[in-house]
Amino acid sequence: MHTINTHSLHSSWISGAVAKIEADYLRSADTHLIPLKLPLFPDIDFYFKDESTHPSGSLKHRLARSLFLYALCNGWIQEGTTIVEASSGSTAVSEAYFARLLGLPFFAVMPKSTSQDKIQAIEFYFGKCHFVNHPADVYEVSRKLAAASDGHFMDQFTYAERATDWRGNNNIAESIFRQMQREVHPVPAWIVTGAGTGGTSATLGRFVRYERYESRICVVDPENSVFYEYWKNNDVSLCSEHGSRIEGIGRPRVEPSFIRTIVDHMIRVPDAGSFAAMHILSKLLHRKVGGSTGTNFWGALQLAENMKSLGQSGSIVTLICDSGERYQDTYYNDSWLEEKGLLASVGREMTDLSVLTGSPGKTV
Ligand SMILES: *Cc1c(COP(=O)(O)O)cnc(C)c1O
Repeated sequence: MHTINTHSLHSSWISGAVAKIEADYLRSADTHLIPLKLPLFPDIDFYFKDESTHPSGSLKHRLARSLFLYALCNGWIQEGTTIVEASSGSTAVSEAYFARLLGLPFFAVMPKSTSQDKIQAIEFYFGKCHFVNHPADVYEVSRKLAAASDGHFMDQFTYAERATDWRGNNNIAESIFRQMQREVHPVPAWIVTGAGTGGTSATLGRFVRYERYESRICVVDPENSVFYEYWKNNDVSLCSEHGSRIEGIGRPRVEPSFIRTIVDHMIRVPDAGSFAAMHILSKLLHRKVGGSTGTNFWGALQLAENMKSLGQSGSIVTLICDSGERYQDTYYNDSWLEEKGLLASVGREMTDLSVLTGSPGKTV
């Protein structure tokens, strides 16, 4: 005769952990959708979903919450499980936040170029940082570290697209469309996002199709990323020698979470353009934004110019992925730009963008 286990298969620790994350969610507010009007584009309304205001400082707060819930409900995390993640920084900060909430040890495996501010944030949440020389090594090192500690490799680049509830549950797409309801053009002509994991573009694209909105999804891609080429030619074997200089976006390999058939259009953005747009947007919004937000704005402006030339009106929604505070020593530091050989080209891009946006140039 078989004995029937009358105890619940899932531990009370797991149910307590899920409850803690749900309580954290209940304490959180939605992020703002900030409008921007530019004099040269009277028929186009720009909007920025400000993801920098999450408790852990970036859009990765949403992802980390989803990844923890997914892993908990799959039974992959138990009391005391060491969590390991491969990250260019932001995800590690957000996961360290949730690991601390649940009392779990956390290791971040990151490229050595990761900004000091993010490292400090991870350590603030009791996370430990492990650095690799080549960005493409983060996966293997994470896997080994997890195996050695009998821990769990969270693997955002694989699970980002499936851990998020894409039909709703106040995901980023649902929130944007709800906040747009009373606007002149409530259904955006374009939604612009970068891709790191590809999770955000996947959620936006699926939601738009599920709700049968006419909005199109544009992914902006920085230098040294393979996503653009992959989107064009569907070659999954692509590899890039160097890592992206725009933290959070652009990958040296095709990530499993990047769903290319969801993306309607892609724009390649030069790094100097991203940094210039970051500076200009920070002036226009009177708040410092991160590098990938600059990439978003550069792409949004290109789409706006195209709409204008076709005589179209409408709205363009994009994201403030994180705040510029994280990049004071790098993107906002002229010696850093000079060291990377970018100072002159950023200056030229800023002159062009100043004309386009009617904003004063950088004052140094
Ligand atoms: C992760 C990240 C992105 C891109 O988001 P994904 O959903 O991973 O594609 C953009 N900007 C920053 C700062 C990020 O950390």
